[in-house]
Amino acid sequence: MEKYDILIVGASTSGCWFANEMAKQGFKVLVLEKQKPEFVSRDYDIFHMSTEEMAQFNLDQLDESHPAREFRFEGSPMWSPYGNYPKRGEDFPTVGFHKHDYIMLMAERAKQNGAKIIYGASFKDLLFDEKGRVIGAKYVTEFGEQEAFARIVADCSGIPAVARMKLPSTSVVNTDKTTERDILFVVLYYIKYLDKQLDPRSLDGFFLHYKSWSAPAGKGYDAILGIGSGHSFAYAEEVFKSQFMKNVKRPEFTVEKIERGLTPYKRSIYSFVDDGFIAIGDSACITKPTCGEGCTSSLVLGQIAVDVISKLLKSDDFLTKEKMWSINTLYMKKQGKDFDSLRPLLYGVIATSFDEGEYMFKHDVVFSQKILGGANSGFVLNGKDIMGIVGGIIKGILCGKIKVSTVKRILKGLNQSTKVGKLYDDYPKTPADFPVWKTKADALWKEIGSAIDTCDPAIIKKISK
Ligand SMILES: Cc1cc2nc3c(=O)[nH]c(=O)nc-3n(C[C@H](O)[C@H](O)[C@H](O)COP(=O)(O)OP(=O)(O)OC[C@H]3O[C@@H](n4cnc5c(N)ncnc54)[C@H](O)[C@@H]3O)c2cc1C
Repeated sequence: MEKYDILIVGASTSGCWFANEMAKQGFKVLVLEKQKPEFVSRDYDIFHMSTEEMAQFNLDQLDESHPAREFRFEGSPMWSPYGNYPKRGEDFPTVGFHKHDYIMLMAERAKQNGAKIIYGASFKDLLFDEKGRVIGAKYVTEFGEQEAFARIVADCSGIPAVARMKLPSTSVVNTDKTTERDILFVVLYYIKYLDKQLDPRSLDGFFLHYKSWSAPAGKGYDAILGIGSGHSFAYAEEVFKSQFMKNVKRPEFTVEKIERGLTPYKRSIYSFVDDGFIAIGDSACITKPTCGEGCTSSLVLGQIAVDVISKLLKSDDFLTKEKMWSINTLYMKKQGKDFDSLRPLLYGVIATSFDEGEYMFKHDVVFSQKILGGANSGFVLNGKDIMGIVGGIIKGILCGKIKVSTVKRILKGLNQSTKVGKLYDDYPKTPADFPVWKTKADALWKEIGSAIDTCDPAIIKKISK
């Protein structure tokens, strides 16, 4: 029976990246991917990453002539609900790729560095030793059931989190399923404008109130109009049709192609590690709170994991949760706190009406340059920011542009956001302190709820008919 240093479940962005980084250092890596190569990551075509993040994670930007690379753009503004007030943050040069092709290149690179990838190999279960520690996995291929042993198993299987689900319920890693409450249903419309004179890039940007955006789409199309929502694809499509298209004036276009996909839209799991185990990527719910993108944000955890695990693998010791705990603490400090404390604030501000939102964009209240500009990379609200938000809101109420009930929702979000920040500052230093912290965290997240709670009951009723 072959023994590996690392067994990775899933050969998409997180799995291939992790495999490559570990194989480069000479570790023996096995990746199991349930799909045959031609079917890997086919649910949607175009994805993009900022050049800054790509450089940070040694991701190849590829030559402009490479068929997997489609376009480069400079980032785009955040727009007010009626499209009158764009707020431009920092420009992030961003590159768009064909996702399947790009992942196959990542896989090729990992293989060149020594990783073994088995396609058509579906993970079935974890293998445990007599102390209940993870020591490998069972999987099924066309040749039947097989077993592979490894010093650590990494779950990079995306939303199904197939390996994480096989941990015992006593694990410090959450074993709850990512349910429909925790998912963003994303619909992508690949469009062509009828007016060939207009510059489609002048219409690009993100519309927070509809979780909708316009971005380049590559050859053959003028743009992707995308929308994400809680509840269902039908809900997203209805918001697109009856709200976005009505309020944000778009020149006439034809829809050439539609794609649908899912991305996690919830707080990250609290602990990524257990004895002989780690979860990375969508399986650990590490997506950007504003837009649900997760390819590069997952690698923030990935990079910390590579540093810690590669040192541990050089000794003979077992990779216990105690030894790997710094992966949790470093991640929470670097990104987890910023991402997760932004969530409740977003749930609060998204609940503003379109008219209120337009006023607030105009007057830089909540929807300010600083908050919206920094939202993608994560940022910390300081006392001055909070005072500015409160002052702007009071002015809005006095002139009748903001309702008191809306303010209550925003303040509730702001308060919960601060509470999450404080809780994550006190992230337990050892697994022994984890259960007490988890109890507090569970209570706080129960109170915060999920993005689906901000869905409009009238739309749910309409699509249920
Ligand atoms: C429409 C849409 C557009 C998006 N656009 C962007 C974007 O532009 N930029 C960005 O950063 N993010 C984007 N995202 C989010 C991004 O797609 C995910 O965050 C990212 O793909 C997560 O990668 P992953 O490797 O963790 O998981 P996944 O990509 O889900 O990969 C999991 C892999 O595990 C395999 N697997 C599952 N079960 C098993 C099993 N039992 N055995 C073996 N293998 C298994 C799967 O086949 C798959 O290959 C978008 C999401 C959607 C839905």
